[in-house]
Amino acid sequence: MSLGRTLLLKAADTPWIAKQISERAFAKRAVRRFMPGETLDDALAAAKALQAERQDTLITQLGEAIVDLGQAEAVRDHYLAAFETIKARGLATHVSVKPTQLGIDQSLDHCRGYLIELAAAAKRTGSALWIDMEDHRYVDRTIDLYRSIKAVDDRSGLAVQAYLYRSAKDIDALLDLAPWIRLVKGAYREPPSVAYPAKRDVDLSFYDLSIKLLTGAAKGQGTPVFGTHDISLVRRIIAKAKELGVKQGGYEIHMLYGIKAGEQGQLVREGETVKTLISYGSAWFKWYMRRLAERPANLWFVMKSMAG
Ligand SMILES: Cc1cc2nc3c(=O)[nH]c(=O)nc-3n(C[C@H](O)[C@H](O)[C@H](O)COP(=O)(O)OP(=O)(O)OC[C@H]3O[C@@H](n4cnc5c(N)ncnc54)[C@H](O)[C@@H]3O)c2cc1C
Repeated sequence: MSLGRTLLLKAADTPWIAKQISERAFAKRAVRRFMPGETLDDALAAAKALQAERQDTLITQLGEAIVDLGQAEAVRDHYLAAFETIKARGLATHVSVKPTQLGIDQSLDHCRGYLIELAAAAKRTGSALWIDMEDHRYVDRTIDLYRSIKAVDDRSGLAVQAYLYRSAKDIDALLDLAPWIRLVKGAYREPPSVAYPAKRDVDLSFYDLSIKLLTGAAKGQGTPVFGTHDISLVRRIIAKAKELGVKQGGYEIHMLYGIKAGEQGQLVREGETVKTLISYGSAWFKWYMRRLAERPANLWFVMKSMAG
């Protein structure tokens, strides 16, 4: 892992730095590149604009480290209302959530209960619920939670991280469920005992796991989603899908709002299903540091924002 990436991920975990930076106007300006605004309304306005360009969306409210179940219930209530708003506005928008926001650290049973309520709301409103994958300590419990919501709504999805050595086995164990799996490279600072430290190995693992997912899709075992901005990798995966007989629409490509927007549009024009994940909320600091760590060259945008 590069020094720049390590420092940015350390900053993400330092509350003092978070407070100093997130209150500054320059930081708010810089984060706008990746986030249309702090409110649900801001996110849904961006979703509406993208839908007009044939790009559907997912939304997620930023926030981490809740301390009690009352806060988890507030998050659940926020998303229950969000599903209703999405339906009322006629948007093809799904919702992606983090188990730590819904009380996984406080009570696995309560977290499961909240997720089941959200999956039922997703089903009722014609949307879908996705579960993000957080650091490796949560993987077993998150997969277990996914099994519970998949039983409620077949359209529910789960993120799986290519940098973890265990992910091939996890995918094998999930394929019988005909899962919606969003394969991502992985965004957390993980020890080499659990995750590939070298980017090259992560990229190789992503491609291998893509083939596993596409081979499953060809047999009716689920719908793979490739959550990456790595366009050459996306191109290789699309070619592989063709070779394996998985048609356009039988897999999807998901990217983050504000990243590779031109390429997202190009893929849509070629008939690919591309969805954009839009983040919103006031707790954006940790998340923003992870985005910078993915590409330390983005610090240049922060400098420009400091200049006004
Ligand atoms: C839809 C979606 C959902 C995700 N969900 C999760 C999750 O649940 N759990 C998790 O751990 N991670 C998640 N991630 C983050 C993911 O793990 C990676 O950290 C992130 O996508 C960067 O890796 P990459 O695949 O884009 O490839 P990279 O090889 O890092 O980048 C490929 C190309 O995209 C450009 N790029 C990448 N990131 C940025 C950026 N921030 N700004 C500008 N250019 C950039 C690079 O410059 C490069 O050209 C998600 C990502 C996406 C797209």
